[in-house]
Amino acid sequence: MANGDASASGKSVAIIGAGIIGASCALSLQRAGFQVTMIDKGDAGGGCTLGNSGSLGIASIVPLATPGIIKDVPKMLFDPLQPLSIRWAYLPWTLPWLIRYIRNSTVKRVEKIADSRDALLKGLFEAYKPLIEASGAQDLIKHTGLLSVFERDDGLAHAQYGLNLRRNRGIRVEELSGDEVREREPAVGPTVKHGVLFPDVAYTVNPQRLAQTFAEHVVRNGGILKRATVTGFEKGPDGPSKVLTDAGAIEADLIVLAAGAWSKPLATELGATVPLQAMRGYHSMMPNPGVTLNSIVTASERRVALTPMEGGLRASGTAEFAGVDAAPNYDRADVLTRHASGILPGLNVEGAKRWMGSRPAMVDSQPVIGRSPRYDNVLFAFGHDQIGIALGGVTGKLITELATGQQPSIDLTPYRPDRF
Ligand SMILES: Cc1cc2nc3c(=O)[nH]c(=O)nc-3n(C[C@H](O)[C@H](O)[C@H](O)COP(=O)(O)OP(=O)(O)OC[C@H]3O[C@@H](n4cnc5c(N)ncnc54)[C@H](O)[C@@H]3O)c2cc1C
Repeated sequence: MANGDASASGKSVAIIGAGIIGASCALSLQRAGFQVTMIDKGDAGGGCTLGNSGSLGIASIVPLATPGIIKDVPKMLFDPLQPLSIRWAYLPWTLPWLIRYIRNSTVKRVEKIADSRDALLKGLFEAYKPLIEASGAQDLIKHTGLLSVFERDDGLAHAQYGLNLRRNRGIRVEELSGDEVREREPAVGPTVKHGVLFPDVAYTVNPQRLAQTFAEHVVRNGGILKRATVTGFEKGPDGPSKVLTDAGAIEADLIVLAAGAWSKPLATELGATVPLQAMRGYHSMMPNPGVTLNSIVTASERRVALTPMEGGLRASGTAEFAGVDAAPNYDRADVLTRHASGILPGLNVEGAKRWMGSRPAMVDSQPVIGRSPRYDNVLFAFGHDQIGIALGGVTGKLITELATGQQPSIDLTPYRPDRF
């Protein structure tokens, strides 16, 4: 076994969730010598990991909640097709969470959050490298940069706050004219006046296949992927010793909770009350777009990301608070299709397929990565918000360091499960 570690050898680990986070933890832990069982109620990578924009966003240090977000709240409540929206029926449940979310949008808090997201994101390529090479997933990653485009002069002016947060942390940012944007991306239409290139951002052409490739590699090397829903835990004197599922119990020395937006009730049982909720996003996938993009293009004022993926061109985005299991409002995906056509005038939207998925969102826009405050043999790895695809490798590395008793390579204080 590569990276073999005597302290892990033979120990069993049950990982709840086989999205990008669970699958990355699984591969990393297996390489360190653990006997790995992944448990997922659906397909590997079939949750939020399936439908996102695919960005390996080394520049994604800025949370969605920035100073001024409070001004958006009335629109969020009264227009269900706004990029940010809350369902009225869900308001009583989401309000306490939302108040804490908005409290994290002050200038001072955003500086701190940008620092701690940056601390994780800057190691993303180094952390993914061994997992991508071991599983043969190189074809899924494209190092093309990411281009943000603006249709209004004041759009670029408003973006300066976020751009400066990045510049101040050494992230490369290049401003372009509308014509320079079209030189890079000829499919972009004449309404675009400005662009910002983040040259160091990469992306995956198929985030679900990335998670599946990791999970399949784990299985090929003796791990297990079990299709079952986790319902609880059997606890002995030293903490949880069995994961209970609708298809039987699974014994494990170590448990990793990586169930994305569904993690909250399981985390409570495992010793931490966490302010996590689903921030639902949508996509529209155009199978025969008729236009080509060379990189991800994000249309800033329209809040849509356009990604050239394996199965077509994907328009994705929006944030909706409605509960993790509520029915989708696919009109939101149709809005994304219209925005995509606004930026790419030649786009063929025929046969567009719509999708909804739940980002696991914490009130402070930082993931939970760390040991349960109650049980030593339980590790938490969820709450990755808009940056879970970027952070699979980093999370796998940190969880493996904790599991093998090493000093974590990043100070985990900002991500502790008991920080709230
Ligand atoms: C529109 C949109 C665009 C995005 N764009 C980006 C982007 O460009 N870059 C980026 O880095 N991130 C992006 N994200 C965020 C990213 O998709 C998520 O952070 C990431 O997928 C979270 O991964 P996960 O493994 O934690 O969760 P998931 O992929 O949701 O996996 C959790 C898994 O746990 C399983 N599970 C849950 N409960 C149980 C249970 N009780 N028993 C068994 N199994 C269970 C589920 O079936 C699921 O497979 C975007 C999200 C959206 C919605």
